[in-house]
Amino acid sequence: MDPIKMVDLKTQYNFIKDEIAVGMQEVLNSTSFINGPVVQEFQKDLESYLDVKHVIPCASGTDALQIALMGLKLQPGDEVITADFTFAATVEVISLLKLKPILVDVNPNTFNIDPLAIEKAINPKTKAIIPVHLFGQVADMEQILALAKKHNLFVVEDNAQGIGADYTFSNGTIAKTGTLGHVSATSFFPSKNLGAYGDGGAIFTNDDDLAQFIRGIVNHGMYKRYYHDEIGVNSRLDAIQAAVLKVKLKYLDFYNERRKKAGLHYTKLLKDHSKILTPFIKLNCNSHVFHQYTLRILNSDRDALVNHLNINQIPCGVYYPVPLHKQKAYLNPKLDSSAFPVTNQLVKEVISLPMHSELHSDQIEYICNTILGFFN
Ligand SMILES: *Cc1c(COP(=O)(O)O)cnc(C)c1O
Repeated sequence: MDPIKMVDLKTQYNFIKDEIAVGMQEVLNSTSFINGPVVQEFQKDLESYLDVKHVIPCASGTDALQIALMGLKLQPGDEVITADFTFAATVEVISLLKLKPILVDVNPNTFNIDPLAIEKAINPKTKAIIPVHLFGQVADMEQILALAKKHNLFVVEDNAQGIGADYTFSNGTIAKTGTLGHVSATSFFPSKNLGAYGDGGAIFTNDDDLAQFIRGIVNHGMYKRYYHDEIGVNSRLDAIQAAVLKVKLKYLDFYNERRKKAGLHYTKLLKDHSKILTPFIKLNCNSHVFHQYTLRILNSDRDALVNHLNINQIPCGVYYPVPLHKQKAYLNPKLDSSAFPVTNQLVKEVISLPMHSELHSDQIEYICNTILGFFN
């Protein structure tokens, strides 16, 4: 059995090495390192893959979130509702823009923002909701979009972990994550489902005016060269990264299919144990792209399991060990921690197993046997 890795970018690279080399060499020959033709090509490819009108590439997922919010022209003090259980970038950009993050609890099965908790948090100052498709599982978008419509709010999807997932509405309509809200943000961090070989990100929207506005924001607020109509930022996807992403986008469905296969294999081997809760999976499972495969360990010592796995050469992760409302930078003395029973519980129970497109069956079996052995 090959050594087990949390993510295996090396093996994945070996399969596409030649194509990557050709793409990178073209960039080197062109010396168009910034905004070269390959950036536009990748943008167009991603627009057709997602079936969205506009993809605006930028320098990272965190930038994409910040720029998406800047695009909505919110005012300082406006409230933005997001999940207490997510990566800090989501709340960081809200605070950086002097908006007010309103953290709410999540659903114990999907780990995604709870629409009932959103509804309770809405007040006249609320301007936007940021659902995060955490671990690759689509948030309850139908309910979130209905709430947004009713209260006239923007929906900004944090799609950093969900690229390629499908959402099926109750009327049967299917659309890709990142195209469901008003605007969305994704990350091309190397370990994401569609990862570059460095930093990268993108904003998606179907709104022509918003796209036009955002294209200026990413470029110093410039709509005409050296005329600065807005206070913008400098956030670009470089051509080398675009060349990598253009190759990898062709394989995204294949990669996600491999992740799903690994996820279902894990679930098959672990689902009957009383101390293990396997990830919630909707009917056909296309609404989960398994950025992470995350278990809940019930009435048991999760940290001892982490240790047990590590001793047996199995890497694993705890995403996330601290709820955002307890992070030093985001402490709010007015908040009562008892308002977050689910995240407070999840941080003690979650464990993410190795998950990538190159996991083998024998590795999955070894990991599951080692986990089951821990409980015996
Ligand atoms: C990775 C990630 C981000 C940030 O992306 P970067 O490209 O690292 O800036 C934001 N939100 C979530 C949920 C993420 O997983």
